[in-house]
Amino acid sequence: MRSDRALSLIALVTRACPFACVSCAMDRPGAGTISRADLRRGADLLLREEGPLELQYFGGEPLLEYGLVRETAAWARRLADARGRRLTQSVTTSLLPLTPARARELADLGLEVMASLDGDLAVQSRQRPLASGGPYPWEVLLRHLDGLLESGAACTVNLTVRPESAQSLARGVEFLLSRGVRRFQFAYALGALWGGEGAEALERALRRADELCASGGADVLNRRGGPEPVLLDGQIVLDADGELSVGCWTVLETALPGLRAAFARGPIRDARRLPVAGRGPRAQLERLLAAVSPGERRLVADNLDLGRRLDRFWGTEARHG
Ligand code: SF4
Repeated sequence: MRSDRALSLIALVTRACPFACVSCAMDRPGAGTISRADLRRGADLLLREEGPLELQYFGGEPLLEYGLVRETAAWARRLADARGRRLTQSVTTSLLPLTPARARELADLGLEVMASLDGDLAVQSRQRPLASGGPYPWEVLLRHLDGLLESGAACTVNLTVRPESAQSLARGVEFLLSRGVRRFQFAYALGALWGGEGAEALERALRRADELCASGGADVLNRRGGPEPVLLDGQIVLDADGELSVGCWTVLETALPGLRAAFARGPIRDARRLPVAGRGPRAQLERLLAAVSPGERRLVADNLDLGRRLDRFWGTEARHG
């Protein structure tokens, strides 16, 4: 697990989203949106901390609130400059609301973009169907990807791999390389049971994907190390309702419904600083095990085993191999 990471605040700008991804475990009834005051408060508290800092606009689909993201990003940039802070800002998006014009605006603001795209049309439409049904907006997604790549924004494509899509990963990477993508991140679906065979198949698929990226001159963010096991990441989350929490729960909310309450740290409006203390993997493991039922422990153990395995994979084989 990497220790030199920036201190990040993950802001759930909105829980609303036009997609209904197979791996999505976010509870989205009512699909709330964060208030401008709570989002600014989060940015303000982050910018009182020292060292490298990162504000992540997350969702749902945060760019459904494009104006709020753009305005907050500009405001946070000015505040960071005034306080002499090193701030990175990033937005994670499905690409659907990210028109080429918006991509250029975000590039001008210095926002980094993490685009969620799982491969070619076959995998993407199976894993990320539209919530509303209807014709799949594949041509729109590709046009927006092209616009993003041309915008000058620092952008990464994140591919989420499920047990049933591991064998298609190489095809997806080849397709995205052919579109001009030069920075990748590979995520595995939390909340899915991988088992030993699934983990081995994933490792084989990642090894092939990593080779393809290397020969295509593409960067793989996983090689820089990351918070594995992700399940023990002490990430600081600001929910759309203004509640702060520490821990990995947003992608597991419906799969492990006790997590959010177990990780809660109170409303941002009452916070004097971000909950930066007590976020290490040991503390997170204790909170995690206290929050899950005996029936849920098999899933937790499976996802922890996979995370440890991939920590070794990216930390040793890929990075130094
Ligand atoms: S995983 Fe992200 S893009 Fe997919 S439905 Fe959930 S919030 Fe939307």
